[in-house]
Parts: sequence; structure tokens; C-alpha cells
Amino acid sequence: MTEPIIRAHAVEKFYEQPDGNRIEVIAPVDLDVEPGKIITLLGPSGCGKSTLLRILTGLSKPSSGEVLWHGQPITSENAGVAIVFQSFALFPWLTVLDNVEAPLEARGVPALDRHKRALRILDTVGLDGFESAYPKELSGGMKQRVGFARALVVEPEVLFMDEPFSALDVLTAENLRNELLELWLSKKMPTSAIFIVTHNIEEAVLLADRVIVLARNPAWVRADFPIELAHPRDRKSPRFVELVDYIYKIMTQPELALVVPDAAAAAAQKPVRQKYQMLPHARVGGVAGLLELLLDRGGKEYLHRLAEVLIMDTEDLLPIVEASVLLGFAALKEGDVQIAPEGTAFAEADILTRKILFRQAALKHVMILQQIDSVLHAKTDHSISQEFFYDILDEHFSQDEVERQFETAMNWGRYAEIFDFDRESHRLILAEPVGEPHPPTTTPVPS
Ligand code: ADP
Repeated sequence: MTEPIIRAHAVEKFYEQPDGNRIEVIAPVDLDVEPGKIITLLGPSGCGKSTLLRILTGLSKPSSGEVLWHGQPITSENAGVAIVFQSFALFPWLTVLDNVEAPLEARGVPALDRHKRALRILDTVGLDGFESAYPKELSGGMKQRVGFARALVVEPEVLFMDEPFSALDVLTAENLRNELLELWLSKKMPTSAIFIVTHNIEEAVLLADRVIVLARNPAWVRADFPIELAHPRDRKSPRFVELVDYIYKIMTQPELALVVPDAAAAAAQKPVRQKYQMLPHARVGGVAGLLELLLDRGGKEYLHRLAEVLIMDTEDLLPIVEASVLLGFAALKEGDVQIAPEGTAFAEADILTRKILFRQAALKHVMILQQIDSVLHAKTDHSISQEFFYDILDEHFSQDEVERQFETAMNWGRYAEIFDFDRESHRLILAEPVGEPHPPTTTPVPS
């Protein structure tokens, strides 16, 4: 077996909150980066991909566990890694050439040598003739080429990339992906391994020799499997489509229900951690739209096909699918999202009936809404401060996530008429839901 370049052993990351609480962002994770591979790290937004990348590069220290570089503890000055960022992170006051020379200068490479190396790598990434341009004169795609050149010029043993194509338009991104692959496959780049963080499933299947999928809250390795398709890969080939569907399924399946196939069996050995239910960040309108579309398409559709039809990024579609599944309106089966009878009833209903059906689903499946409903009924004034729920959520989520959880719960709960929210007093007030029988105000006249 090949010796890994980087070996992360039981790395864990948590953040201390001002109130002394600890938010665990990464659960203890074991992970090797071996030579000769493009590895992609996938996972939903905010699950901890960038945090893990920074830990693997030595830029950030884990709260516990260790990262070894060829068997030795990694340090932030580690010379063997370089990172390409989504935001390009170029120095605007430096020319293209100076930007690419900068990391060599920082490493004390003599002027003539760094000049030669920078020119060579600029040529490799197709920036010949742009040496004296400034970043603001370049398109996004060209800026990212400078980002590649600046990373490659230090001849990193492992090239790390954090969402390198996400800020680019579709065509530019596709073009750059292909160029990266070409450089890698023809061994024109002085790099033993590439580690790419992405939320784009197709990008992962297009590029990777190995795919790692993180689950969130806290992050742990949900699946880790090889992709053995030959290059160039055809996005329409049955195996490609199958792999994309499989990853969609992993990323959307509620944790307890996931059956991981053999390739990822190791990850399945981990005990599933029971955590406070995390609401996907989807609005009621999104869920309704998805259900209507599903109904329209005969009740089920491939996940990736849905993304295509809706012209939506995975990152935006997944929470909507997850929310529909959580509410019992849809189910995931073999890469299909399939509308459930409750979902069909919702999609076919009129506005008022939809509210009633949503309310039933929310109170049946959504923990925070059950808690709110129960407390509002228990209190004589039928109202409660929002702080009360912040306190519950604070125990489980980081500050940003608490805000997002609360906002989603408000969107769902107000639509379902479980409560109203008074923005002045920041209090939740029991609502009188539609469709519930009102007590008769007059005694019926006996016939
Ligand atoms: P991803 O790259 O998957 O989008 P990140 O690694 O950027 O995710 O973030 C993972 C989680 O860590 C997020 O939920 C974020 O809110 C949380 N986080 C990041 N930095 C801090 C911090 N300083 N304090 C508390 N939580 C943090």
C-alpha cells in the first residue's frame, strides 16, 4: 500500500462560544491523502469542508488529533502545499508576474530563479503575454489561472483547491476544469496529489479518483470511495449518471436511513450520532415548487435531472429536497426523488388546505416546531420570547447556524400558522390556525 503524504488522525475541531459552550464543527476524522490521485471532498454548505482543508494544510490547528506530513507533525510553514481559493485572493497592486513570484519571494528564492520559474508556469497555464497585466484587467477565468500559477509555481506536493471553479461562469469553469485535468494527466504539473473541496457533485465525478462525502453537524466522513472511470469522462454515460445519483442520495438521505454500498463500507462502520434535528435551509415556497414539479413529471424524477430542469445549483436544490423528505412529502429511492401521498395531496390542494397539510406535517416531523407549539399551548398568555428558542438552539449550533435555524423555523411555523412572530417584542404568539373548527357563537336553532 502506498504511504500517504498526509495522514490526519482523529482530527476534531470545535469552537468555544462566548457563553462557554463548545460547538463541534468536525467530529474526530481519520483521513489520508495519498499520492497519484485527485481527491474531492464533497458536502453540504457549511458542513466543515474548508475547515478540514485548512487543518490538512497545516494552516489551522485541530482542537484535538494530529496531522502528519510524511509521518512528521505538519506545520503551517510546510513547504509542500499550496492552495487555490474560490476568491482568487490575488494582490491587486501587483502584476500577474509579481503575484506569481510572491510565494517564491516569501520562500527566499533568488530573483533570477523565481522570475524564470514564474514565467515558465505562466506559460503552462496559458497566461503567456499577460505578465505585466494587473488583476483588475483580467476576467474571472484569467484571474483563476493566475491563482493556479501562483499555487503551482512553488511545486507543491499536494495542491489544495477550495471551490476553485465556483466563482466562475459555467463555460469558463468547464474550460478550466478540462485544462486542469489535461495538465494533471499529462504530468505537466509538478504535483503528486490534488485535493479539491467542492459542493458540485458533477465536478467531483468529472475530476476525482476518490470522492469523500462529509455529513454535517458535526462533520464526519459519510462515504469515501474510488471513481475508476477513464478520462475523458462522459457526463451522459450511464456509469457517470449512476455515480452522480449515488452521491446525491448520500447527501440527501437522512442519516439513519442510509445504506452505504461496499465501496464506502468503512464509513458505515461509524456509529450514527443522534443529534438535535437540523432544519435544511429551505423555504415553504421552494418545497411547494419542488412538489408541483414532481407531480407534473409523473411523481418522481432523478435528482440530478431536477437540478437541470430547475437550472439550480446542487447547493440550492439539496436543502429543498431534504426539507420535502423531512416533512414526509417526498422520499428518496435509488437516486430518484419520489413524491409521497402527503406530498401529492399538498401539491394538489388549494391555498388554505395547503396550510393545514403543511401544519400537520410540520407538527408531526419537525422537532423545534413541536417544542414551540407545546410551550405556546402550555403558557397561559400563549406567547414566549424568541430568546427561549435561541437558548435551545445555542446548545447545538454555532451562532450563524442558530440564526439560520431560527429563520427557517419562523418561515415554516408562520406559514403553518402554528404561531405569529411579533417583531417589536420579539415574541412568538400562538396563532389561530386556519381550518380548525371555531366554537359556535350562537346555539343552533333546533329544527
Ligand atoms: P464549508 O466549507 O463546508 O461550507 P466551513 O468549514 O466554512 O464549511 O464551516 C463549517 C462550520 O463551522 C460552519 O457551520 C460555520 O458556521 C462554523 N464556524 C466556522 N468558524 C467558526 C467560528 N470561529 N466559530 C464558530 N463556528 C464557526
